[in-house]
Amino acid sequence: QTPTPMYRRILVKLSGEALMGEDSYGINRKVIEQIVGEIKQVAELGVQIGVVIGGGNIFRGIAPAASGMDRATADYMGMLATVMNALALKDAMSKAGLVARVQSALAMQQVAEPYVRGKAMQYLEEGKIVIFGAGTGNPFFTTDTAAALRGIEMGADVMLKATKVDGVYTDDPKKNPDAVRYQSLTFDEAIARNLKVMDATAFALCRDQQFDLKVFSIFKQGALKRVVLGEDEGTLVHC
Ligand code: UDP
Repeated sequence: QTPTPMYRRILVKLSGEALMGEDSYGINRKVIEQIVGEIKQVAELGVQIGVVIGGGNIFRGIAPAASGMDRATADYMGMLATVMNALALKDAMSKAGLVARVQSALAMQQVAEPYVRGKAMQYLEEGKIVIFGAGTGNPFFTTDTAAALRGIEMGADVMLKATKVDGVYTDDPKKNPDAVRYQSLTFDEAIARNLKVMDATAFALCRDQQFDLKVFSIFKQGALKRVVLGEDEGTLVHC
């Protein structure tokens, strides 16, 4: 008998860096297959899944901008990088027997469908996974903000932010062995304790729209599924 998930519809934010694994850039085939495996476990529970994918493994706008490149141009390059990741993810999902669609916030009709809210919602209802590429389509934003935005637009129950660490800690767990993971905390507590959960724009959007966020590790086997089943995993940031 299948256990009952806590959420009907989720928005998963995957950073581009998650796709690199131990490599220094690009997409690691084994790692992407592993991530798709984690997502598949949740799809099999009947949960509707939207995914926003980052691009940091290929291009991050801020670094070239810092060294003199026009920031907006660098950001458009960053958004294009997220589309590459979106295509790679869709391909890996198809190979794993999942049905996925890519929608891009920047028009590139030969490569991906444009983002159309109603169409994306329809795909989700049909049980198809929707991968949102090109972030928000605007420079000066991040894919965390895109994830908050699309999650809210889709009426998702929660945003699940996949990171390398399995939650939000009182201190950097890599540097401080006494650091403790928060099971849950409010948006206001996160601000008061100066905890870096997401960039300020994404954070404000979630808080204003009362869109809960769960931070979890995509590299811990079965963690995504445990989150969806409401088990003690990761950190919930709520209103
Ligand atoms: N980006 C942007 N607008 C967006 C989303 C992303 O300009 O709405 C650009 C920005 O340059 C960013 C890059 O795309 O550095 C990659 O996205 P992000 O850094 O969020 O990826 P991640 O850290 O999740 O891999």
